[in-house]
Amino acid sequence: MMPNQPLGGNEMPRFGGPNTFMRLPAAKDAEGLDVAFVGVPMDIGASWRSGTRFGPKAIRAESAMLRPYNMGTGAAPFDGLQCADIGDVAINTFDLKDSVLRITKAYDAILTSGALPMTMGGDHTLTLPILRAIAKKHGPVALVHVDAHADINEHMFGEAIAHGTPFRRAYEEGLINPQKVWQIGLRGTGYTAEDFNEARGWGFNVVQAEEIWQKPLGPLAEQVKAQIGETPVYITYDIDSLDPAYAPGTGTPEICGLTTPQAVQLIRGLRGLNIVGCDLVEVSPPYDTSGNTALTAANLLYEMLCILPGVPVR
Ligand code: MN
Ligand code: MN
Repeated sequence: MMPNQPLGGNEMPRFGGPNTFMRLPAAKDAEGLDVAFVGVPMDIGASWRSGTRFGPKAIRAESAMLRPYNMGTGAAPFDGLQCADIGDVAINTFDLKDSVLRITKAYDAILTSGALPMTMGGDHTLTLPILRAIAKKHGPVALVHVDAHADINEHMFGEAIAHGTPFRRAYEEGLINPQKVWQIGLRGTGYTAEDFNEARGWGFNVVQAEEIWQKPLGPLAEQVKAQIGETPVYITYDIDSLDPAYAPGTGTPEICGLTTPQAVQLIRGLRGLNIVGCDLVEVSPPYDTSGNTALTAANLLYEMLCILPGVPVR
């Protein structure tokens, strides 16, 4: 039996039909799926501009233009994987700590069913509770973290849980293998001159934006792949890793970021890794007047889908 297919543009105009990722069938849970698209509509972990609670809805809306076959790489994800959109995690928008518990519980269920979660955010806080579920199943994972920010603050306004702290908590809790963490695209201004070096001391591989300005990212992806090897790996993609010229609709923009082709080259170069989950976070539709940020986010999620184990290449 053919796996689920996105609803085609000749079956229903693309401006109509369901608001699921790529207009895939909606499912009530992840049972029987290889890949579960899931939204985490949350912005109460954000420190500057809010609005990412509307991210999943906007990414789904822009994903309606995506067709099933990747013309750049030949990947045919829907020929090989059973995919559906299982809707959103019911976070508690009045309580971040409770929301974090709810997210882990939801991902425990997804992972128990055997599906691989592809997450639409939501602010970056959500990656911590996802990694808690992922590590229960896979042990400490390798991490590819693409972001303008390191997100390793000790506290934010006295809080241990916020969108600027997830990777310090993940390190402390042993959810990730620090030697196999790659932080890519970091830049901007810091609280101290040592902001990016502390994690280097833990073993993280930190690639600052200046090191990759105007470079194709295929070679970096090869280096990442060789270093991570067969270890299960989680990919977390913060849309603010891109330059605000390409992705202005985000909460904490930083100039001099990745171009859109670099963002795609990096993902395509990671094909072959043992990927166990992916997220795309920090899309803030109120600041995305053209919709380009959500469109880019939808495409980056699709590109991550295309490199998952089990996807045929034509
Ligand atoms: Mn982030
Ligand atoms: Mn960021």
